[in-house]
Amino acid sequence: MSDQNCLFCKIVSGQIPATIIEKNDRVTAFNDITPQAPIHVLIIPNQHFTTMAQVAENDLKLVGEIIEMADKLAKQLGVQSYRTNINTGADAGQSVFHAHLHLLGGRAFAWPPG
Ligand code: 5GP
Ligand code: ZN
Repeated sequence: MSDQNCLFCKIVSGQIPATIIEKNDRVTAFNDITPQAPIHVLIIPNQHFTTMAQVAENDLKLVGEIIEMADKLAKQLGVQSYRTNINTGADAGQSVFHAHLHLLGGRAFAWPPG
């Protein structure tokens, strides 16, 4: 359920501090420590999964709850336009191996990404 060596599990349990934006019994949202936009929130399952693909394999509904939380927070934070990003695997830029969705907003974004 949780991995005692995982940074984001420690944020869920409160062992490591973070600016929590919203939390329910399944999902936690907190500010990224190195924001890449005026709004940069990480939305994660409370349970430990290494990637979002693993979440989908085990609990597909939870993927929807994470996306639903992103849209709700974007509206709460006053942005109509936002980017959500899921990095899966090191080559895609994943550095923390507890599934997370990046919610970025408050500026314009380029496409394609680097
Ligand atoms: P990834 O590169 O795995 O897609 O994203 C990991 C994100 O976690 C990065 O944007 C990074 O800034 C953020 N991060 C890493 N360590 C911490 C931390 O201790 N606290 C918070 N709030 N964010 C972190
Ligand atoms: Zn974890």
